[in-house]
Amino acid sequence: MSTGKINVQTENIFPIIKKFLYSDHEIFLRELVSNAVDASQKLKTLATAGEFQGEVGEMFVEVKVDKDSKTITISDRGIGMTAEEIDKYINQIAFSGAEEFVSKYKDKMDNAGIIGHFGLGFYSSFMVSSKVEIVTRSFRESDANKAVKWECDGSPNYTISEATREDRGTDIIMHIADDSLEFLDNLRIDNLLKKYCRFLPVDIRFDGKSINNTKPAWTRKPADLNEEDYKSFYKELYPFSEDPLFHIHLNVDYPFNLTGILYFPKLKKNIEVQKNKINLYCNQVFVTDSVEGIVPEFLMLMHGVIDSPDIPLNVSRSYLQSDANVKKISSHITKKVADKLEEIFKDNRTDFEAKWDDIGVFIKYGMMSEDKFYDRAQKFCLLKNTEGNCFTLEEYRNKVSALQTDKDNKVVYIYASSELEQHAFIESAKSRGYDVLLFEGPLDSHFLNTMEMKLENTAFVRVDSDTADKLINKDEKPVSLLSSEQEDKLKVIAEKSVPAEQYAVMLEPMQADDAPVTITRPEFMRRMKEMAAVGGGYDFMGGMKENFNVVVNTNHPLMSRILSETDENNQATKMKQAVDLALLSQGLLKGEELSKFIKKSVEML
Ligand code: ADP
Repeated sequence: MSTGKINVQTENIFPIIKKFLYSDHEIFLRELVSNAVDASQKLKTLATAGEFQGEVGEMFVEVKVDKDSKTITISDRGIGMTAEEIDKYINQIAFSGAEEFVSKYKDKMDNAGIIGHFGLGFYSSFMVSSKVEIVTRSFRESDANKAVKWECDGSPNYTISEATREDRGTDIIMHIADDSLEFLDNLRIDNLLKKYCRFLPVDIRFDGKSINNTKPAWTRKPADLNEEDYKSFYKELYPFSEDPLFHIHLNVDYPFNLTGILYFPKLKKNIEVQKNKINLYCNQVFVTDSVEGIVPEFLMLMHGVIDSPDIPLNVSRSYLQSDANVKKISSHITKKVADKLEEIFKDNRTDFEAKWDDIGVFIKYGMMSEDKFYDRAQKFCLLKNTEGNCFTLEEYRNKVSALQTDKDNKVVYIYASSELEQHAFIESAKSRGYDVLLFEGPLDSHFLNTMEMKLENTAFVRVDSDTADKLINKDEKPVSLLSSEQEDKLKVIAEKSVPAEQYAVMLEPMQADDAPVTITRPEFMRRMKEMAAVGGGYDFMGGMKENFNVVVNTNHPLMSRILSETDENNQATKMKQAVDLALLSQGLLKGEELSKFIKKSVEML
C-alpha cells in the first residue's frame, strides 16, 4: 500500500468543486458513466486495431445502488488502469486539469452557471461522496498486471493498494455523503440515467434493465434511414406527440463537427409550451435542453437533437453566445433549414401549401428576425387568401397590382384577421374585385410591419380599417345624393347615437346597397395596439383605448328617410337602431346597451 498527496497547490479545491463548479450535482452520474463508456469504447478500438487480442465479450456499463452500504457503484469492462495510469490520469492530470479549470473560470461563473464540463469528470464524484474508491484492472495481459484500489476521502490525500478483480475494467464506488442521500433512491437514479444516458453508445444497465438506445437515428447515415425511422425516433424523443411535419438531418464536419436531426412539429395554439424541446448532446451524452444561443431564436420551436463535441460546454451562457463556433453553428442551421424548405417548396408545392398553416409561423418569425433567412425565404413564403389559395410574394403582387394600386403608386394588400368576424367587410371588398388575404396568426401584425418595410411601395390594410371604397385611396370622389345642409343635419343626429367618445362619426357617400352604417377600425392605431399585445416595444400603446369610425352611408335610402321624418324622436330612434346594428355586427354592443337594443327591436316587431 502507498499513500500520497494529490498534486495540487490549492488545498481547498474540493469545496470549490462541490459548491461552484456545477450548479447541478446530479451530473456526477453523467460524468462517471461517460468515463466508463469511454473506457469501453477505447477497448473496442484497441481490439479493432489489433492491439488487444483477448476476448472482448459483451460490453456494458452497470450502475448499482446499495442503500445499506450507502454506495453507488459504476462498473465497466473497459481498458481499466494500472497503478501508474491511476497516478498519471487521476492523481496528476485529472486534478491539475480541475485546478486549472477553476482558476481560469472562477471569474466567469456568472449567475447562469456552468452548464457542464467534460474533463473534470471523475472528480465531480466528490460533489456527492464523502469517499470514493476506484478498483481497476488494466486490459494489458502481463503477470505484472494486478488489480489496484485507489481511495480518497475528499481531502488531497489518497491511498493506493493492491486489490482483487478477476476481469479487466473499473469499478467506481462512491460512498454517498450525508447531504446527498437523495441519490440512493433507485427511481432518482433511473430518471437521471434516462435523462443523460439514453443515447450513449455502450449498453448501460441499471436494476438488470438496459437504459439506452446505443445507435440513435442521428448517428446513422441518412441513406440508411427511411421516413418511418425518422418518425419513430421522433416518437422515442417525444412519446405523446403527433407525427412531425418533416425533418432535417444535420451532418457537418467542417469547420466544426455537428450531427443531429431537427423536426418541424405540428404547432398547437399555445406555441410557448412547444419551445425548448431541442436537446443538446456531446458525443451522445445529454448536456442540456436549453439551446438558446446555439440554435437561432426563431428555430427554437423546432424539436429534435443536436450533437456536437465542438460546442464549448464549460462556459457560461453569455460566453457561449459570443463564441465564434457557436455563431457558425447557428448560421449553418439557418441555412440548412432554408435549404430544406426550399427543396420541399420546389419538389412538392401542394404538400408545402398543405403544411403552410404550421410552418408559416416559423418562416414568418424567421423572416422577421434574420435578414439572411428573409432573403432565402422570400422565394417560398406564401400569402394565403380568403379563398384558400396560396401565392408567393411575387405571384401575389402580379395578381393584385392592376386593381389594388393607390394614387401614390402603392400596392395595397388587403387582409382579414378573422373570416367570421369580418365577413361583411370581406364581402364588400370582394364585390369591388379586391382580393383579401387571411392573416390569422399571433405574429401576423408584426409580420405585416416587417413586410411593409421590406417590400417597396406596399401597404397592408385590414379589411375593416375603412369602408370598401376607401381601402385603396384612388382619389375618385364619389358623389353624395345629399346636400351639405342635409349632411350636417345627419351628422348631428348620428353623433347622438354613438355610445362613447372614441367613436368618431364620418359621412361617406357609398353605394346604395352598402350598409347604412359601418364601424371601421383605423389601421395604424389598431396594429400598434396588437403589436403591444404580443410584445416588441410598443408597450406604450397597450393602455390606449381603441378608436372606431362610425361611417354613415349618405347614399343609403335609410338616410333620406331619416331626414324626411318630421318627428325628431323618430329620427333619433331610426339612427340609433342603424348604429346599434353596425355595433352589433362587430360585437361591440354589450351589456345594458345590448339589452335595450333587443327590447326595442322586439317592440318594433
Ligand atoms: P476525462 O474523462 O475528461 O479525461 P476525467 O477526470 O473524467 O477526465 O478522467 C481522467 C482520466 O482518468 C481519463 O482520461 C481516463 O484516462 C481515466 N479514467 C477515468 N475513468 C476511467 C474508467 N472508468 N476506466 C478507465 N480509465 C478511466
